[in-house]
Parts: sequence; structure tokens; C-alpha cells
Amino acid sequence: MIYYSLNDTQHTASYKTAVKKGLAPDKGLYFPKTIPTLPDDFWQRLPQLSKTELALEVIRPYVGDEIPNAVLKTIVEETLCFDFPIAPISEQIGSLELFHGPTLAFKDVGARFMARCLGYFNQEDEATKSTVLVATSGDTGGAVADGFLGVEGIEVVILYPKGKVSKLQEKQLTTQGQNITALEVDGVFDDCQTMVKTAFLDAEICAVKNLTSANSINVARWLPQMFYYFIAYQAMAPKNKPLVVSVPSGNFGNLCAGMMAQQMGLPISHFISSTNRNKVVPEYLKSGDYQPRQTIATLSNAMDVGAPSNFVRIQEIVKNNLEALRKRMSGYSFDDQATKAAMQKLYTDHAYIADPHGAVGYLGLDAYLKTLKTDAYGLFLETAHPIKFHDVVKGALGLSLEIPKALKPLMNREKKAHPIKNYDDLKRFLTSPTP
Ligand SMILES: *Cc1c(COP(=O)(O)O)cnc(C)c1O
Repeated sequence: MIYYSLNDTQHTASYKTAVKKGLAPDKGLYFPKTIPTLPDDFWQRLPQLSKTELALEVIRPYVGDEIPNAVLKTIVEETLCFDFPIAPISEQIGSLELFHGPTLAFKDVGARFMARCLGYFNQEDEATKSTVLVATSGDTGGAVADGFLGVEGIEVVILYPKGKVSKLQEKQLTTQGQNITALEVDGVFDDCQTMVKTAFLDAEICAVKNLTSANSINVARWLPQMFYYFIAYQAMAPKNKPLVVSVPSGNFGNLCAGMMAQQMGLPISHFISSTNRNKVVPEYLKSGDYQPRQTIATLSNAMDVGAPSNFVRIQEIVKNNLEALRKRMSGYSFDDQATKAAMQKLYTDHAYIADPHGAVGYLGLDAYLKTLKTDAYGLFLETAHPIKFHDVVKGALGLSLEIPKALKPLMNREKKAHPIKNYDDLKRFLTSPTP
């Protein structure tokens, strides 16, 4: 597969280069030259396929011959080493739970796949050690730290805003050790993000480090997110109803992966882009005017994004055709009060504890299904375990949740983080010889 830069279609790269660089040199996002469609017999075989088998078929064309079959099979197996159950909410609605991975958020899928691909490519070129530099508002950092832990040839540096991540998230970021380093930034998430962007453009840092990013702009984190749309469809197909999927969205990597799956032939009848008050995309769908904004802080803070990076990929899929996009996607946004009310409704009416992001997904789905005159089944993606947003859940439901057993030992581990006050601190950290 050849990838091109969305800033300049003439600039192309292999899968390996796209993964190792993250962004094209012109700062454009990489996009595959063709979106393959799955062969007819795939759909006949689908009911019998295992998770690994179906994921391998889906991802193979995007990787081409750059990773041998046996290796790619292991990568896929290790990526999907947990379940993706659907919890029934009502006759018409289910919650697709994507939080059963090691760090309890859907980002585990992309982070595990990317870490293993990058690990394989770095084995090939032993001389070049890579540094994954990533800013996090909470979930990304944990998934990346866990996904890359112990991967040879890669060091991971995570910037997180001091006092702005939950206790569990902080433990996930700061206690891994080995090749993972946490930097505790005196500032908010946007400060972390700005520092990372500045570092990528800093010639003195780039002279001593091969920097790469690990958010959904990297194709190896973005594309494997297609897997669970296929897994969900496999489970839902016997219902024999049009399938609507609501995706709680921030940077829109997750939703954009769903659209890629649909483009490959997956029969999803409609997508809902469900957002909090950071509603650039729902507004664009309504007005046709794309207006990135300053980020607004909300209860569903992993979706607090004012200028979603993957919007350009969505535009590419629909060839910049707004009417085509409206046929495939609707958008809804909700404020914190509505989010809390939805958490309460899910709990009292359906005995379901949702995290604030899943609750936004539920609201968008419910709003859309009410406009339909025909029968359909709707899934909302439950993107994180409620324990990751314990304060919000406790505030909305008055419940104290237990930390899952597997994560309990983590809470007793010692936090290790370097304080960072400003960009110079970061630069000094990245350019000084590794101790
Ligand atoms: C990252 C995240 C999102 C947003 O996903 P995007 O791919 O950026 O749209 C939603 N919910 C949770 C819990 C997240 O961690």
C-alpha cells in the first residue's frame, strides 16, 4: 500500500515510513492511496471467522508485504487479546464495550497494534532508536505506556498536565518504568500538546532523536480501530436490521476508522458523531461551515478537542462532498448537564453504568433513532470503563466503584515523573544524554 500526504498528494510513503514518521514532512496526515473492498466471499465466511482471522484480512492490504504474515498474525492476536462485548440496553440499543483492554479504554487497540508494528520495523533497522513523544489528557498516555512497555528500540516520553488527570490515569502513566518516562507539565493539556508540536519542529532535538507520535494521526494507531466495527457487525448480523453506530468523538480517529470499514464494504447504515460542547463537526454537518474553535473543558474530557485532526481524513473519504457526508453521518452535541442526566437515565432505567463519553454516545444515538421511521438497531461505543472517570460517575450517580482486580496492584506502585515547567525544560530533557 502506498500512502500519500493530505497536504500534497504527490508526496508518498510506504506503510513503514508512514508508521515511523507519523506525519508527512509537509505536516500532512497520511492516507492510503486506495481503499480496498473486501471480496464477496468474505461476507459468507464472516460468521465463522475468529477475531484474528477477520482482522488479518481487513488490515493485510494496508500493510502489504512490509510485515510477514506470521508476524502480522501475532501482532493482530496480541492486539485483540480481550473481548468486545455488546451490553443490551433496550430492544433497539446496545453498548459496544471497548474498555476491556489493559488500560480500560478503546485506545488500547490502536496503541497495541502501533507499538508492535513500530517494534518490528525498528528490529529491521537496529541503528535507529525511536522516541515516541506524546501529549495526553489521560487515556492516550496510559494506552501508549502499556502498549509500548518493554518494546525494544523504542523509548516513550509522555507529557501530561499536572493535577488534570484522574488518580488511576496518573498511576497508569507514571509507574511503568523501563522504557517509559512521564513528564508532569505545569499547565493544561493544550500546553503539553503545544510543547510536543514545537519539539517535532525543533532541529536541535531532531538531530539527536528520531521522534514519532502515537496519537490517531499515525496510521498504525488509526486503522486497527476498524477491527471492532467488524467484530460488532459479526455479532449483530443475525438481527437482520440496519445497523446505526454512534461514536463519542474528539479527534475523530475512531469515527473515521469506522467510515473506512464502511468504505471497505461493512454494512453500517449510518454513523452518529456524538460530541460534547466541542461541536465543530455537528455544526459543520448543519451549516456546511467548518469552524475550528478553542477547546472547551467538559466532563467528557477525552473529547475536549476544538480542532479535530482527523476531520481532513473524513473529508478525503467523502471527497469533500458535504451531501455525501450527510447521507452517511449525523451529528449531535450535548452539554455536561445532559451528559449527567443520560448517565442517570442509563442507570435508573437500564441498570447500566456508563462513563461520561459513552453517555454522550448514547444521547446521540437516542436522538437519531427517534427521527427514524424505519426499524434499525443502534450501537453506541462505550469508549472507557466508568472507573476511569470515577469522580464524574460518583457525582452523577452517587456510586463508589471498585477498581477492577487486575488494576489494584497498580494503585500501590510508586509514581515517578519529571517536573516540566516550560519548553526549555522539555528540550533539555530530550537533548541531554540518556542517563
Ligand atoms: C480518546 C477518547 C475519545 C475520542 O476518540 P477520538 O478518536 O479522538 O474521536 C472518546 N472517549 C474516550 C474515553 C477517549 O479516551
